[in-house]
Amino acid sequence: MQKEKVIVIGSGPAGLTAALYTGRAMLQPLVIAGNQLGGQIAITAEVENYPGFPGGEMTGPQLVDLMHKHAEEFGARFVYDEVIEVDFKRGSPFYIKTYGEEYEADAVIVTAGASARRLGVPGEEEYIGRGVSYCGTCDGFFFRGKDVVVIGGGDSAMEEGIFLTKFADSVRVIHRRDELRAGPTLQKRAFANEKISFIWDTVVEEVEGNGVVEAVTLRNLKTEEKSTLDTDGVFIFIGHYPNSQFLAGQLEMDEQGYVITDEFMRTSVPGVYAAGEIQDPIYRQIATSVGQGTAAAMQCEHWLSEQEGVEVAVPA
Ligand code: NAP
Repeated sequence: MQKEKVIVIGSGPAGLTAALYTGRAMLQPLVIAGNQLGGQIAITAEVENYPGFPGGEMTGPQLVDLMHKHAEEFGARFVYDEVIEVDFKRGSPFYIKTYGEEYEADAVIVTAGASARRLGVPGEEEYIGRGVSYCGTCDGFFFRGKDVVVIGGGDSAMEEGIFLTKFADSVRVIHRRDELRAGPTLQKRAFANEKISFIWDTVVEEVEGNGVVEAVTLRNLKTEEKSTLDTDGVFIFIGHYPNSQFLAGQLEMDEQGYVITDEFMRTSVPGVYAAGEIQDPIYRQIATSVGQGTAAAMQCEHWLSEQEGVEVAVPA
């Protein structure tokens, strides 16, 4: 059993920031980084709205690299492993089990993030990696000169759809309503892009293919008319779900599985904090995750001091 003062679970912007702050507080945090350092921003092409980086020149992987180096500079250590079990209910020291190791930590900051939601239609699972994708930035390159569809009407669908026009000949956005959920700037850019067209009031009922994706079956929700649309790729951006399965029964969560925290990033278990998309279904920005990671780390530091009998100025 490896003993640690602070364990940060997850390595997206919230986790890397929590690692930086607890590192700077001389707590030598251990980050259990998961399989992908940086989480979702590691697969984001351009970071346009994180303050301090104008001009859209910062990429997701570059920002991850900088945040990672910054956290290491202050003593954070990283293991690339996944948490499969925790016992938080027994109190501090908390038990954490990964594929490769068992840990005890005096305090924990959970920042395991969120994952792309699936449509749940026939053919979707079968063709993942063979035409079905949840990441334009990762897979767009393989669709050079091809025709693709994008499912969803939110910011992610527009952002990724616009990115996909760098490679694909055509991008058809299939949306279940007749207006987009995406913000005005992305809407404007998507409508102005000649390669993007829209199929409104329509859902995908099946992904078809023969080894690779060849078509989607569509249903118009207003007319109930069914049709088949030939396509080489199906990019699905219909929201996310929190990666909180491993916390079941350990922390209080809402009905969608988001960890419930108060304004001090405290979970239902004293000494366990949560930050970023695992507890935030609303904002989901790099900037908000960074802020939440900061708050969680500061509260964690104060809580540990309090356990050692040191007076603290803010709620722990
Ligand atoms: P989202 O805003 O929840 O949008 C999901 C889209 O998928 C909606 O248009 C929704 O339709 C559609 N949808 C959901 N379930 C569906 C289903 N089963 N079948 C067909 N369509 C379905 O998710 P998101 O785009 O990933 O964005 C999440 C959050 O991250 C938002 O707060 C967004 O602002 C933020 N974000 C920001 C940026 C940026 O600022 N650059 C980039 C990406 C994401 P309805 O519209 O009918 O509900």
